[in-house]
Amino acid sequence: MSPFRRSAGTLSRSLLLSAILVIAATAIAILGSVWLSNEQRQILERDNKTFTDEQRIADQIVELTYAQQFDAYRYLQRPDSAYLVQFRNRGEQAYDRMRQYLFHELSPEARLQVERMKEAHELFEVSAQRAFELVQRGNSEAAQARVSGLDERVRLLDTAVASFLVARAVQRDAFQELHRSEQKRAQGLLAAGVLLILAIVTVIAVRTRRRVLLPISDLVEASDQLSRGERGARVPPQAFEEFNRVAMAFNSMADRVQATRETIEAQNEELVQTLDNLRRAQGDLVQHEKLSAMGQMLAGLAHELNNPLAGVLGTAELLREELERSTHEPSRALAVELARPLELEALRARLLVQNLLVFARKPTGIVEPVPLAAAINTAVGLRAHAYVLAGCTLQVDVDPALRVYADLQKLQHAIVNLLNNALDAMRGGKGGAVNICVERESDTILRVDVEDDGPGFTNADEAIKPFYTTKAPGEGTGLGLSLVEQFVHEFGGQVVLTNAADGGARVSLRLRAAADLPRADADPGTNDPARLSPARGAPVVPDDAADERQTVLVVDDEPSLREVQRRLLERLDVRVILAASGREAIGFLESTRVDLVISDLRMPGEIDGRALFAWLNHHFPAMATRSLLVTGDVSGVASLALPIPLERTISKPFQGADYIARVRDALRDARVDTRRSAT
Ligand code: ADP
Repeated sequence: MSPFRRSAGTLSRSLLLSAILVIAATAIAILGSVWLSNEQRQILERDNKTFTDEQRIADQIVELTYAQQFDAYRYLQRPDSAYLVQFRNRGEQAYDRMRQYLFHELSPEARLQVERMKEAHELFEVSAQRAFELVQRGNSEAAQARVSGLDERVRLLDTAVASFLVARAVQRDAFQELHRSEQKRAQGLLAAGVLLILAIVTVIAVRTRRRVLLPISDLVEASDQLSRGERGARVPPQAFEEFNRVAMAFNSMADRVQATRETIEAQNEELVQTLDNLRRAQGDLVQHEKLSAMGQMLAGLAHELNNPLAGVLGTAELLREELERSTHEPSRALAVELARPLELEALRARLLVQNLLVFARKPTGIVEPVPLAAAINTAVGLRAHAYVLAGCTLQVDVDPALRVYADLQKLQHAIVNLLNNALDAMRGGKGGAVNICVERESDTILRVDVEDDGPGFTNADEAIKPFYTTKAPGEGTGLGLSLVEQFVHEFGGQVVLTNAADGGARVSLRLRAAADLPRADADPGTNDPARLSPARGAPVVPDDAADERQTVLVVDDEPSLREVQRRLLERLDVRVILAASGREAIGFLESTRVDLVISDLRMPGEIDGRALFAWLNHHFPAMATRSLLVTGDVSGVASLALPIPLERTISKPFQGADYIARVRDALRDARVDTRRSAT
């Protein structure tokens, strides 16, 4: 942009002034030069004419004088008075001519020559007069003797006339020299005038460029910037009023364009946001529909499962009691090794089914006193396994007697959402512990804190707003926390999001406290997941390392499943090693000869089934191709793209005969491999 230009003026005034200046200077130069050359010409003409006149007069004087001389000669020869009269007339005329000179502007030399001329003429006439008198007295001879004197006088006059003309020529030359120098001065003046005009034209051109062309280029540049969408496209204040008005009009237009553009951008952004929200809401609705259909199916399934489960549980209990009463030692051992785990697993399944049924129940919409422990434990029971699988811990500290005003289903739903969020946040790598505790803030307020040691909220103020999510598309809807807030609001409570001092996130549900349950009734019951966690069995390593039989390594985090598989494998006359985790399995594989690995897919800890197979593939590729993967979700396995064909998976729950058949096939492959490598 050009810098700010000096004081404001009008373009037309400036242009008018410039034009007047140019015209005036041109006119002065032209008139001056015309006048001067005219003046010169007139002076020269006058000089020339004067000189010619003087020459002519000089000629006349000389002619008249010679004519007088002739008259004098004739009178002396024949004294006729007519000659005398003619002599005198001519003398008068010559004298008049000489007097005419004296009216001219003569130099002192010329004037002196005129005086000499007059003197010579007078002497000539006096000599002639004497001669005439001599003739009149009859003395012709004396008169004749004077004739030569007359010649002398005429020559003198002639010389004086010539000298006069020379003096005049000198004077004229001096005049002409003077005029020539004046002419030069006039030419110099004309050149100065031309230079002045050129200077004025240059100044006007420079000013026109600076004050007319630059503003125009400013305007063009700003227009280009505006059309390119640059925000700061403005024209600076201009010197000329007209350009200043154009600049101001342009700037206010640019302001309006920018304001309109910003409005459009904001509206566009809003539109995009709305569209995005709509799309998410639509997806959410579909998901919601799917989930509610699944919830109904799940509730039906849970009901259906309850019957066989009741049978399994009852039978397991009876079997255990029967075996425990037996006097036969191996049978009593069976009660501990098989019947008790069976009973515990059936109880765990029942708890899971109960939690599902509670969770799937439709919210009553009634806000009433509900036991906090029941709500929290149901939610925890539903997510506990996921936490174990992710290697995270869940700590609950709640007094079973506490009650709050809530809708039980919605409260459970809210806590499940908070547990899901905490788990998602900790999956990033930071943290691994969630703590749920309840504080009595006052007589009327109970505060449930769900606190994790993950990365914390990026923006705790925004997180609760609908559709705010930092999760990848498809992983989060941004509605979880706003749903929690909506529920808690319905209960007459409040949700507060904060980050703990050490960085984790804390969600506090401030709920209206209801009267505590009588202590006798306050029992979290079978819902307490901690009570039902079966004891984790120690890894089983066969004693006999020199055993020649084929070795099968069973890897499963569920002790009962490890035990079931061990008993099934006993039928195959193989050596069985049991490992409770992927890490433990790798320990065995590094130190012991193993022919076949049968591993669970989903296991807690850093090495799950997938990681174990990747490790096998790298270290024992031949064994990896015949080993088996046990999973409850076949479609999931396919999507995981493991280096294992689908036919090498065993679906849970499996039947003993099928399991044995699959393992037998795999062991046969292992034998073939061993023989090949031996030869
Ligand atoms: P979504 O889980 O679908 O993203 P939510 O409303 O449940 O929607 O959560 C909104 C956002 O709040 C999350 O995307 C995440 O950024 C943040 N958030 C929620 N809980 C936690 C937590 N425990 N730790 C860190 N950030 C969290």
